[in-house]
Amino acid sequence: MAGKAASAKSPWYRDGIRFECTGCGGCCRARNGYEYVYVDPAEARAIARRLGIPLRRFVDEYLIEQHDDAPFDVQMHLRFDDGACSMLKDGKCQVYEQRPKQCRTWPFWRENMVKKVWDTEIAPQTPGVGRGRLWSRAEIEAAIAEDERS
Ligand code: SF4
Repeated sequence: MAGKAASAKSPWYRDGIRFECTGCGGCCRARNGYEYVYVDPAEARAIARRLGIPLRRFVDEYLIEQHDDAPFDVQMHLRFDDGACSMLKDGKCQVYEQRPKQCRTWPFWRENMVKKVWDTEIAPQTPGVGRGRLWSRAEIEAAIAEDERS
């Protein structure tokens, strides 16, 4: 029991993980059919400013409305073209400094932080894993929390 309690408090990444974005664009392409990068209003405004276009035009040209079950629950996500995010141009994110939190927190998403998922799906397909600075456990958990903040 003591061992179980200890492991619950000590996730496998307790000593941190090295990661840096290599700019490969790999996480900007659909994986297993998943092509949803959600954008909140503040992020949409920042990206539209970066692109130098009015917010309305950005919404019309680059965002897709997703209506969930609740009647007023509408989310916006970036359009994907041929399996790649519409912000990806020549293999690079054209709004990197303004990229949505979902991109800023990758690969530290809760569903990725299951050891088996990390080892079999995330690390092998993410060239930045094992490189760059060490993200502490606290930073990883802050990224997980930020990704989940709506
Ligand atoms: S917004 Fe930028 S970083 Fe995020 S998926 Fe699109 S191209 Fe990639």
